[in-house]
Amino acid sequence: MASGRISLSIWFFFVFLINPSTSARTTSFIKLPRSDGSRYCDSWRLAAETNNAGTWDVIPSVCVDPVADYLNGDQFLSDYNVIADYALSFAKSVDISGDGKDVWVFDIDETLLTNIDYYKAHGYGSEPYDSNSFSEWVLQGTAPAFDASLKLYNALQKLGFTIILLTGRDEDQRSFTETNLRDAGYSGWERLLLRGPEDQGKSATDYKSEQRAKLIEEGFKIRGNTGDQWSDLLGFAVADRSFKVPNPMYYIP
Ligand SMILES: [Mg+2]
Repeated sequence: MASGRISLSIWFFFVFLINPSTSARTTSFIKLPRSDGSRYCDSWRLAAETNNAGTWDVIPSVCVDPVADYLNGDQFLSDYNVIADYALSFAKSVDISGDGKDVWVFDIDETLLTNIDYYKAHGYGSEPYDSNSFSEWVLQGTAPAFDASLKLYNALQKLGFTIILLTGRDEDQRSFTETNLRDAGYSGWERLLLRGPEDQGKSATDYKSEQRAKLIEEGFKIRGNTGDQWSDLLGFAVADRSFKVPNPMYYIP
């Protein structure tokens, strides 16, 4: 009897050692220490990009350097290129009616234009958003284009899409924004929609959904939408396909 219990214990011990699924289960709840720099921050970045992290204010302080490395390295540009490729592949599958009603919506900041130079000077998203400081940057009008976005933008126009720009920037920033976009290489958009006085205080999700709904009421068909925020893409009157480009620096609800 006693020897039976012993051999059973040995058997369980043996199974525990050799069964990888048992071993995986026992380790899957171990929390990565935040001090484990890049590994934790890669996971945090994935959670932020997929919206699993939900609303967040600033990036974790331990992730400033890993996020900076990501943004300044090849991976960020590669991610943009891959997303642009998927967007273009979808766009080519759309049956364009030719009446100018097939629309592609683009957000501007961190989608068509990169403000990386601004955020580089403000901790890559580790500092709370400062609207006055960012407005000063916008008025400089020196934000460059993302190459992948500019190529996608031009390719969509060639395919016959009507381009509509929908931004959270304010109406009084229109001329600076238009000049910046043209200097960065963009042209030929049908409309540039900015927040008017009646849009102040609305969440980006509500404001952008309302603007898209108005377009649909006008007879436009929103085929595609590209933005760096989930609030560019979610809500109502959503596009047939939405494409989320990466932005680990800030979250706009
Ligand atoms: Mg944006």
